[in-house]
Amino acid sequence: MDLDRLHEKIRLCQLCDLSLNRIKAVPGEGPCPAEIMLVGEAPGREEDLEGRPFVGRAGRLLDKALAEADLQRYEVFITSVIKCRPPDNRRPKRHEIETCRPYLEAQMKVLNPRVVCLMGNVATQAVLGKQGVTSLRGQIWQDRFLVTYHPAAVLRNRNLMKDFVSDLRKAKMPKD
Ligand code: SF4
Repeated sequence: MDLDRLHEKIRLCQLCDLSLNRIKAVPGEGPCPAEIMLVGEAPGREEDLEGRPFVGRAGRLLDKALAEADLQRYEVFITSVIKCRPPDNRRPKRHEIETCRPYLEAQMKVLNPRVVCLMGNVATQAVLGKQGVTSLRGQIWQDRFLVTYHPAAVLRNRNLMKDFVSDLRKAKMPKD
């Protein structure tokens, strides 16, 4: 399936109850194929309104971190594990992750990224089956997956910004 058709399927998806309260599903955006893919947790309020990933405060922080890592937003494909906003931004439930994850897997297949940045515990758990970003971050797993902080965590604790930028830089040049 090509990316446009896949994203159309996501926009119309009703496979879990998160479809009941969403305004817009957020499939993700960026180049195809993509060298670097960034995977967050789930859309928030502003993403739900616009149907685009990381457009709120966490998104502005992500843009800043990308720029500091010499990356531009248009160079990376940005998405999340869950494509529809959980009510009140609660954590996605396990069955929601299980139901939505095939879309992320299909995106990875189509985009064929060299590096997939798993931002935060939900993405790390969903893809690698591991918990604990603080100890896992900054390392490449299975030759492809780089674990780092979620931008919202960096918003809450600006001391994490330096490591977050360093991880994004590693995604750009993993051998450095
Ligand atoms: S969260 Fe995923 S599985 Fe659930 S309705 Fe949205 S696109 Fe479908």
